[in-house]
Amino acid sequence: MPSRAAALDTFRDHIVSTGSAFLRNVRWTPNVTCRTCTGIPNPGYADCYKCHGRAGSAGLADTLGFMTYAWPDSQAGRTMRAYKANGAASYELVSSLLTYAVAAHWDCIATRTGSHPDAWAYVPSLAGRNGQHPLARIASGVLGRIPHVQVTANNYDDDARAFNASHFTAPPTTASHVLLLDDTWTTGGHLQSASAALKAQGVLRITGLVIARWLDPSWSTTKTFISELAQDFDPTLCPYTGTPC
Ligand SMILES: [Zn+2]
Ligand SMILES: [Zn+2]
Repeated sequence: MPSRAAALDTFRDHIVSTGSAFLRNVRWTPNVTCRTCTGIPNPGYADCYKCHGRAGSAGLADTLGFMTYAWPDSQAGRTMRAYKANGAASYELVSSLLTYAVAAHWDCIATRTGSHPDAWAYVPSLAGRNGQHPLARIASGVLGRIPHVQVTANNYDDDARAFNASHFTAPPTTASHVLLLDDTWTTGGHLQSASAALKAQGVLRITGLVIARWLDPSWSTTKTFISELAQDFDPTLCPYTGTPC
């Protein structure tokens, strides 16, 4: 179980004081945002184009949560890039976002799915990058003694964002419910492929938790949606439902 306690309030206050002015909670609004990934579908559709195309495939995540939207040339977008480079303030903010979301909404996972995760994993960067992924460093702090399942990225020739379990390798594991973390969801191909790789090893349930749902404002529907995201970020809203929990 993640370490909870009074430290949680410190993370929440840090998010509010340094990020709430430019981060934006995702919306779970039927027929306005994708019911799977909170992206923007074509008008009148329940799922975005990518989720619609993968629907029904074996290995997909069972439950997904998202913290904030981000898009090109936004401060949220710059934060998601800088936290992996050497932006100390961005790293601290992303660290607080992930730590708070994992710990404060830990029981929400069991409420929605019937069980708490018994292991965690993260979606690794594409093959060839060295060093510990910052997501792994942050997550190992909050997830404490919960076992980590190390997913690795493979080299492949097809579209890196395609849904394909062979893009990743997961080791044999006895875990039945894995919390799968990712920093940015653009098309969802990475997280869903990693989910399928874990399920191929016998994992029964995947709960995905993503820091930023990336939006593409070159689509006019999305551009309008972004322009109407006026509300400051509230970390207490549930990443799995968009409502208080
Ligand atoms: Zn979607
Ligand atoms: Zn919650």
